[in-house]
Amino acid sequence: MKAEIIAVGTELLLGQIVDTNSAYLARELAELGIDLYWVTHVGDNLDRLSEAISRGLSRSDLVILSGGLGPTEDDLTRDAIARVLGEELYIDPELEERQRAFWAARGLEMPPRNLTQAMLIPSARPLPNPVGTAPGWWVEKDGKFVVAMPGVPRELTRMWEHEVKPRLRAVAGAGIILSRTLKVIGRGESAVEEAIRPLVGSRNPTVATYAKPDGIHVRITAKAGSPEAARSLIEPVEAQVRAILGPDIYGADDETLVGVILRRLRELGWRLGLIEVLTGGLLAAALSEPADAEGAFAGGLVLAGPSELVRLGFDPETYRGAGPGNLALKLAALARQEFGAEVGLATVGDETVGDWGEPPGAAFVGLDVPGEAVYQRLVVPMSRPEVRRRAVLTAFHLLWRSLRERLQAG
Ligand code: ATP
Repeated sequence: MKAEIIAVGTELLLGQIVDTNSAYLARELAELGIDLYWVTHVGDNLDRLSEAISRGLSRSDLVILSGGLGPTEDDLTRDAIARVLGEELYIDPELEERQRAFWAARGLEMPPRNLTQAMLIPSARPLPNPVGTAPGWWVEKDGKFVVAMPGVPRELTRMWEHEVKPRLRAVAGAGIILSRTLKVIGRGESAVEEAIRPLVGSRNPTVATYAKPDGIHVRITAKAGSPEAARSLIEPVEAQVRAILGPDIYGADDETLVGVILRRLRELGWRLGLIEVLTGGLLAAALSEPADAEGAFAGGLVLAGPSELVRLGFDPETYRGAGPGNLALKLAALARQEFGAEVGLATVGDETVGDWGEPPGAAFVGLDVPGEAVYQRLVVPMSRPEVRRRAVLTAFHLLWRSLRERLQAG
């Protein structure tokens, strides 16, 4: 079954609200194994909305509308569906009764305009909305389906769960889409894609790469009649991806880089301390996110610049000759000392070593673990947030690799 979504509302086109309804529906459709090929945003305009619905029906089996079911002049979804299907709107006595009861229960007179929410067309069945006033519509005509739901997310999600999804399951058959995500660190997106290129063209499962803040994600997605069948399509491809990228894969699905690092620290019985000059607490924020971080993550010092180092009794100038990499190493050793930790990690940027001859965007990460002290220099000729983001990823990569080697060495 081919589906498309039409999100209705001028607010969407003005950028005043973000279309979370479509994102929600897209996830839900994937889970049902229904292919979603188009998402359209359209304002509160009868001609354009009718055009969008008409185009939707010409190329999809299912058109899902969000919004435009309110009682006001600019709520046009019902009118547009009626126009496209060439059907007359009429007031449904039962819906009218329900509308009146809704207002009466609150001790209020029903505003006359709300009668529009009791309207139907002959091919439409009403979808109850116990958390709002606008019922939805389930329309079946000439083998095609149109579903209209209110725009208010709370009303839409409830109506979807209780009314629409069960009906769709019945008509679309039970198909599912299942994904497996392998997470890679230490390689760029194009390098990953290049490495797995022969797999990227496959159709079921599909294989795609995504650059994310915690590395590159390789997503393998299969479509099948059951979860077991989908898994058996995914497994051989996953094995191939693992054979190619093996040592650079740090986790899968919900596993996070920080989660893996903290787990390895715990396995080794080690604790980590930080000194962040460049990254301003970004490492500390990430490492302290899991509620159970304490025990593996001791803490971090965030320093605004070299003068704060001097105030702590350490003058970076003494490292001018040895270079900024060694300065980062020294700070990592200080972090260990400061927190009585086994592992120290530190970040320094070019501004700390302003006149040492480093180019803009130079960053240094130092790592100090028992038996190993390494630093990495990177140059990111981009904005400062990007330099900091890359430095965070580099720091986690160094740390992750060092802990893995330590565990492998037993
Ligand atoms: P109601 O019948 O309750 O008036 P409606 O069907 O007329 O709802 P709209 O008037 O289009 O829906 O939208 C109502 C509110 O719902 C919007 O002001 C907005 O806050 C939210 N909303 C609408 N569309 C979306 C969307 N696509 N994603 C997220 N929120 C939305």
